[in-house]
Amino acid sequence: MDKPCINIVWLKRDLRTQDHAPLASAEASGLPYLIIYIVEPCWLERADYSPRHWQFICGSIDVMDSHLERFGLQVERLFGDAERVFSALCERYRVQSVFSYQESGVLETWRSDIAVANCLKERGIQWQEFQSNGVLRGITDRKGWDRRWYATIDTPPINNAYRRHSPFFLEHDFGLPDNMRQASQAYPEDRQPPGQDKGWLYLTSFAENRSSHYMQNISKPGASRASGGRLSPYLAWGNLSSRQAYRYVRSHPNYPQQRKNFDAFTTRLKWRCHFIQKFEVESEYETQCINRGYELLPHRHETSAVERWESGTTGFPLVDACIRCVVQTGWLNFRMRAMLVSFLCHHLDQDWRRGVHFLARQFVDYEPGIHYPQFQMQASTTGINTVRIYNPVKQSIEHDPEGLFIKRWLPELEQVPTPYIHQPWLMPPFEQVFCEFQLGIDYPLPIVDIHVSGAQARDKLWGHRRHPLVSREKKRLLKTHTRNR
Ligand SMILES: Cc1cc2nc3c(=O)[nH]c(=O)nc-3n(C[C@H](O)[C@H](O)[C@H](O)COP(=O)(O)OP(=O)(O)OC[C@H]3O[C@@H](n4cnc5c(N)ncnc54)[C@H](O)[C@@H]3O)c2cc1C
Repeated sequence: MDKPCINIVWLKRDLRTQDHAPLASAEASGLPYLIIYIVEPCWLERADYSPRHWQFICGSIDVMDSHLERFGLQVERLFGDAERVFSALCERYRVQSVFSYQESGVLETWRSDIAVANCLKERGIQWQEFQSNGVLRGITDRKGWDRRWYATIDTPPINNAYRRHSPFFLEHDFGLPDNMRQASQAYPEDRQPPGQDKGWLYLTSFAENRSSHYMQNISKPGASRASGGRLSPYLAWGNLSSRQAYRYVRSHPNYPQQRKNFDAFTTRLKWRCHFIQKFEVESEYETQCINRGYELLPHRHETSAVERWESGTTGFPLVDACIRCVVQTGWLNFRMRAMLVSFLCHHLDQDWRRGVHFLARQFVDYEPGIHYPQFQMQASTTGINTVRIYNPVKQSIEHDPEGLFIKRWLPELEQVPTPYIHQPWLMPPFEQVFCEFQLGIDYPLPIVDIHVSGAQARDKLWGHRRHPLVSREKKRLLKTHTRNR
C-alpha cells in the first residue's frame, strides 16, 4: 500500500498559532500535515534544564491545541532523539517537506539539527527553516543588522488561517515518560502561566495600563513585577513573536502619551534579538569565556560559597531575597539578575560557570541566546563591556528603600527595623534583643566584607584587561558582534 503523503511542522521555540510561517506554509501546501514537538532525552540531562521549562512548554502546547482543535489539528508531543523520530516518521509516511523556524540553541539542539538535516537530505526531503525574529544565520559581522532587524519586525504579522482537516491519528513509539505527560496540570500559581492567550493578556495589560511606570520602576525588584512588560517567558518559548509584541505596542492608541516607556520597551525587544544573534554566531558563549583572555584569570573554587549563594544565605538581604524569589517564582528583573551574577563572580570570586546553570534552571524565561551572553557580560568576561561591580547594599537602599521586597522573601527579617534592613550586621546587640532577632542565628553574618571584595574584584578585573590576549580578543569581538568597532 502507498504511504500517505504528508508535510511536517516541527515546533521549537515558536509555540503559537499566529504569526507562524511554518504553519502558514504547511497550510498553503494543501497536503495533510503533522505538527510535532520533540522532547529529546539528552535535554533532560543538561544542567541548564529544569522541569519548570517543560511545564511551561507543555502548557503552551495545551493552549495551542485548544486553538487548533476545531480545525482537526493538534500538536503531537514526542519523546526521543529527533533524528530517530524523523526516521520513524519517514518509514510510515511519504514526507514531502518539513517546516520549522531556525533555532539558535545549545550544543545538543545544534547537533540534533545537523543529524535531522542529514536524515532528511538522504531521503530527498526538503527542510525549510524560517528565520526567527530577525536573527540572521551565517553572518560574520553586524553590518546592516539593525536595518534588517527593523525590516523584519516592523511588517504586519502573518494572519494564519486554517482549513478543516481530517483528524490524524499518529501511532508511534515515542510516548512521553509518565512524569512528563500531565506536567501542565498542577501549574504553580506563583509562576507566570503558559500559553499564547496569557501572553496576549500580559501584552495588552502592559500597553493599556501597567506601562505608565515602566522605566521608573524597571530596576526595583518589587514594583517592576507589576510595571514591567513581563513578556519574557512568552517570547522565550514563542507564545508571542517579537513582531507581534513590537507591532502591537507601536500601533497602540496609548503610544503618543506613553512614547518614552513604549520606546524603551521596543528597544529591549531589539536587545533580545541582538543577544540571540551573538549566540547564533558564537555558540561557544555556552561553555567558554567569550574573550579567551579571561580563561587565564584564576578564581576561588569554594563550593560552600556557591551553596550559600544558591540557597539565599549569604547574609546580604537583597541578594538572598532575590535568590529565594527566583527559586519560587522563576522571574527577576534585569538589574537583580545582574546583581546576582556580580555577587557570585565579583564578590565571591567564583568562575561564572559555577552559577550559570543554576540561574538557567530557575528562569521560566530561560533563553540560552540571552542567558549565556548576558551572564558573561555581567561576569566581566567579554572585555568589550565596562566592568560593573554591583554593591548589593547600595542596590538595596536605592531600589528597595523600605525593605518591602526583602521582608516579603526573608520572613526571618520581619522584625528588623528599616534602618538596618539593608545591613542587619550593623544592628547593635540591644536592638537585636529588643526585636527578638539574633544575628548569626536567625540570619547569617555576611559572607564577605563587601568593600574589600569589591575593591579586590575591581583591581583584578581592570588589571587583567591589559593582558595582550584580552586586547586581541577584544578586537575580534568588536568586529564580529558590534556595529562600533
Ligand atoms: C544574567 C542574566 C541572565 C538573563 N537571562 C535571560 C533569559 O534567560 N531569558 C530572557 O528572556 N532574558 C534574560 N535576561 C534579560 C532580562 O533580565 C529579562 O529579559 C527581563 O528581566 C525580562 O523581564 P520583562 O519581560 O519584564 O522585560 P521588559 O523590560 O518588559 O523587556 C521586554 C522584553 O525585552 C527583552 N529584554 C529585556 N531586557 C533585556 C536584556 N537586558 N537583554 C536581552 N533581552 C532583554 C525580554 O525578552 C523582555 O521580555 C537575563 C539578564 C541577565 C542579567
